[in-house]
Amino acid sequence: MRGGFILAVHAFGSGMADATEAKVVILGSGPAGATAAIYAARAMLEPVLISGLQPGGQLTITTDVENYPGFAEAIQGPWLMEQMQAQAEHVGTRVVQDMIASVDLGGHPFTLTGDSGSRYRARTIIIATGAQAKWLGLASEETYKGFGVSACATCDGFFFRGKRVAVVGGGNTAAEEALFLTNFAEHVTLIHRGPVLRADKTNQMRLAANGKIAIRYDTVVDEILGTSEPRAVNAVRLRSLEDGTKETLPVDGLFVAIGHTPATELFHGQLDMDGDGYIRTEPDSTRTSVPGVFAAGDVKDKIFRQAVTAAGMGCMAALEAERFLAARH
Ligand code: NDP
Repeated sequence: MRGGFILAVHAFGSGMADATEAKVVILGSGPAGATAAIYAARAMLEPVLISGLQPGGQLTITTDVENYPGFAEAIQGPWLMEQMQAQAEHVGTRVVQDMIASVDLGGHPFTLTGDSGSRYRARTIIIATGAQAKWLGLASEETYKGFGVSACATCDGFFFRGKRVAVVGGGNTAAEEALFLTNFAEHVTLIHRGPVLRADKTNQMRLAANGKIAIRYDTVVDEILGTSEPRAVNAVRLRSLEDGTKETLPVDGLFVAIGHTPATELFHGQLDMDGDGYIRTEPDSTRTSVPGVFAAGDVKDKIFRQAVTAAGMGCMAALEAERFLAARH
């Protein structure tokens, strides 16, 4: 079936007039949400997918994708997400362009209210709202994002074979990105604003033992320098926080690894989360602390953060939602 179908819109009494009723509401349209939608639709659950602020998710701000299985040639991130959404629609997902402003998980069915005032009543919810990489906030960072500036070494490291790169950050992610990049790059400079790394001792020892890595402490990136034709990075301007001196470091790429922010504000106080705000799920499951609410992808995963792992979790969430509904009804 093409183009999806419109769910019956039911009117409910007392404050829920014109609410859309759904067996499954999926929040988020990245690989986790889209895959959950494909599986839920094929299980005849007539899912409603609410696409959120950045339809398609983080892949829409990347360019070449070479590690999503099934494509021998590099594909474009935005194209991959269009395909996933089209596939979800073809099998019966209703995609709604909306932002959810509030959620009440206190009763069942759960209730959700969109920015526009639209209302939903959901027997299950799959949260796939993802996470956003934190960025430095430089104008030049915007210019070169996807053209030498990246927040994912696993995704983009391969493009820097034999080149010089820099990584910004002092946590475990930055340490692991720097170590991983030495598989490709000729040299990696880790730039940390503090005097000591936040990364754990094991990672610190690995960094120290790796001859391709140099660490610059008490240093920040002031500017990313490069060319416009072709759009490419060729250096970063560093500033010492100790004495203010500036220096230009030639690099072909800059990886920003200063943390991620999971999109979980809507659920604070309603679902169990870890100290960084990621939703906790049961082992080997996408079940959250509220029965009938499932979480998949980067919103619950700060370790792997890959499109393919998110897609896998989306599949798990849909299968678990189906089992939950079957057991209840
Ligand atoms: P963290 O919050 O641990 O570290 C972020 C780093 O970025 C800090 O060193 C911080 O500096 C620096 N930073 C933050 N903002 C800026 C900025 N604007 N400019 C320059 N530097 C900045 O994030 P991670 O992503 O590294 O880790 C998140 C969580 O995931 C942690 O709990 C971590 O341990 C965990 N993790 C675990 C892994 C594992 O166990 N294998 C792998 C990856 C992550 P400062 O130190 O000065 O605050």
